Amino acid sequence: MMFNYSKETEFLSLPGLTQLQTRKMREHLAYCKAHSPFYKDKLKDIDPETFTLDNIGALPFTTKDDIVENQDTFLACTEKDFRDIVFTSGTTGEPCRFIYTQNDLERNAYNEERCFCTAGVNAEDRILLTCTLDRCFIAGMAYYMGGMKTGASVLRNGLSSIESHLWIIRKVRPTVIVGIASFLVKLAELAQRENVSLDHIRCLICVGEPIKDEKFVLNGIGSRLQQFYPHAELFATYASTEITTGFSECSCHCGGHQPADLAYLEIIDENGNTVPPGQPGEVVVTPFGITGMPLIRFRTGDISFMLSEPCRCGRNTPRLGPILGRKKHLLKYKGTSIYPQVIFNTLTAIPGIDNYYVVAYGEDLSDSIEVVISTTDPALTPESVQRQLSVTCRARIPVVIRDTAEVAAMVFGSSRKPQHFFDKRGE
Ligand SMILES: [Zn+2]
Repeated sequence: MMFNYSKETEFLSLPGLTQLQTRKMREHLAYCKAHSPFYKDKLKDIDPETFTLDNIGALPFTTKDDIVENQDTFLACTEKDFRDIVFTSGTTGEPCRFIYTQNDLERNAYNEERCFCTAGVNAEDRILLTCTLDRCFIAGMAYYMGGMKTGASVLRNGLSSIESHLWIIRKVRPTVIVGIASFLVKLAELAQRENVSLDHIRCLICVGEPIKDEKFVLNGIGSRLQQFYPHAELFATYASTEITTGFSECSCHCGGHQPADLAYLEIIDENGNTVPPGQPGEVVVTPFGITGMPLIRFRTGDISFMLSEPCRCGRNTPRLGPILGRKKHLLKYKGTSIYPQVIFNTLTAIPGIDNYYVVAYGEDLSDSIEVVISTTDPALTPESVQRQLSVTCRARIPVVIRDTAEVAAMVFGSSRKPQHFFDKRGE
């Protein structure tokens, strides 16, 4: 398959979009039926040649557990086609293997090229990558390959020390940085202490963490980023190893556009039915054009919403809102439903909180929640934090202040990413 950025595909008319998505879905179903042992039987009553998108409900869902339990039967290629082997976090603690073929890597590169092009990155830019490039992860590699396709120069500093990133900023003056939002805040704090200007950075591509709330207003981390990088435009993206597809914002900043030729997006309720645009539900993605481990209707476990009206940028593709939380992390607290992300958004907006985590306990109908913070501000009290949380969460949640090192040890513990939520329910 050929994967090249085209403005024509980006700005298709609505009928053109349906036509393209129907064709891509048919090709995808035909491929899965012919090559994927996992789907062969599940698609026996589906005729890919006549399939239409309004019949999407007839296709099976796929969960992370399905992949963990049936890794080999998801393989739709032979071992000689394996190129890049990566690992994602599994559902039971054991990492889950994921295979990319040459085709899939090229698709990945195109996917990130789209993200960069949507953000206006061009051959004159210098892109600093602060996301992991090795350790069997895919994100950094994909951004590297995509960055190369734009003609820009790419700095592969990856998961290096914050000091080395600052040294590069001083030495090479990158114009674009890709990274996790909370890391980019830490980098800017160091730059401020060391008197290093960030004025030449015109674009930040934020991965891994939401930087906006459900109204597309910058959350705590997002606002701090904007203050620290005053000349940078902030772009939110959503992607994962399994869906291998990025939903990237355009310059209108009102949701990540679905790449019409790469994926089909759905939002579903508890019973697997599609919810109306604007309503929150689970994000389900069918990525097109994958030959290694193709998936159908992958349930991401993330909660967000879809906007379907055409965007002011001229694109007609549906947009995915910010991630509101993980489905399994929904807390039932004194009659209120709260996603930990809402607590995070509130905490990161409070000056003086330098780190935090949330623990949930309990079972059945009501959970107990504890918010643990560390602070550099002696005037900050648990009561003042509790008051702010009661506004956003509509509940009084206990807050305790602990030692900085103790909180950091919990957050940076053994996980590959900083972890701010610990689910001890049912333990
Ligand atoms: Zn747009």
